[in-house]
Amino acid sequence: MSATRNLHPPAFWLRDNCPCADCRDPRTGQKLFQITDLPEDLAVGAVRDCVPAADGGLGREVRWEPDGHRSVYPEAWLAAHAPGAGGAPRPGDGRTEADKELWAAPDLDGRLPEAGWEAYTGDRRVRIRALESVVRLGFVLLRGVPPRDRTVLDVARSFGFVRETNYGELFEVRVEADPNNLAFTGARISPHTDNPYRDPVPTLQLLHCLSNEARGGDSGLVDGFRAAALLRAEHPEAFAVLTRVPVEFAFADARTELRAHRPLIDVDPLGRIREIRFNNRSIGTLHQPAAVVEEFYAAYRTFAQLLLRPGLRLDFRLAPGDCLVFDNTRLLHARTAFSESGDRHLQGTYADLDGLLSTLAVLHREGARA
Ligand SMILES: [Zn+2]
Repeated sequence: MSATRNLHPPAFWLRDNCPCADCRDPRTGQKLFQITDLPEDLAVGAVRDCVPAADGGLGREVRWEPDGHRSVYPEAWLAAHAPGAGGAPRPGDGRTEADKELWAAPDLDGRLPEAGWEAYTGDRRVRIRALESVVRLGFVLLRGVPPRDRTVLDVARSFGFVRETNYGELFEVRVEADPNNLAFTGARISPHTDNPYRDPVPTLQLLHCLSNEARGGDSGLVDGFRAAALLRAEHPEAFAVLTRVPVEFAFADARTELRAHRPLIDVDPLGRIREIRFNNRSIGTLHQPAAVVEEFYAAYRTFAQLLLRPGLRLDFRLAPGDCLVFDNTRLLHARTAFSESGDRHLQGTYADLDGLLSTLAVLHREGARA
């Protein structure tokens, strides 16, 4: 007797998942009908056990009223997916704090997530481990990536797609004579996420070190989810303010004018931390009632203080050939000031998590088949 024997899934849910060839294109698996094509008074008619043709396991056949359509569902599929059965509801979409390993610097002591470029490109398991680090911890450090012009684009294409922006396919992080961004000077840059003035924001960033002989110019990473979780524990009212007040972020130069209105801390419908935007350089003018502005600035200052808390920030120095890949919706990155006379040159680009997650899923699929 199957565990789902007495379950009665909602009729529209069950019919929407009919696997038959009239309902789903057998080649693509995509649905062939609209939800409005189903009869208003749809109901489960006769139900009987059967052996489905597809996987040979036990199945259940449903005759539908009033249109007489016939659906066969594998028992294993019902057990995994039916509302009320073991498979549902799922914990999250993989992007919130619920599916991450939050960290402070000491947690990563001696176990920085890293991989050699040759092993990464040559060994499926190394690639899986590296990409999983980006998903779980928010970053991976690839070592030995040839320190050559535009190689950062090859790194992005090893797991996804380059997100081209007004900065081009890639951007140069080095001292420029006429910078349109403080990143392109020798100034100290405090922990921030990139491009909060875009919507959607680039979800991944890559920084590839070509040379780093300047004095200073060390890198730092802060887990923004961990910091936001601390804020929620210590100052719940400040956390709540930062999740509900939309902030205007802006960037402009001679050719570009970008603007986005998003909260500093974005949460999912269950209140779980899902996205951080934090960038003192591009936060614009807040247009809100005075009372909201007051509470926003108090909360913003509290969060900014917390982000600077010793111990949260992981410090390291990028060497030529190092390529940092990190989740720009979660980690804040920083660098110390450096002497503008010494040679320091990074190339950066943006990419997105959906491509990385897809690559990871396909790698797992190939592993299961091997
Ligand atoms: Zn069908």
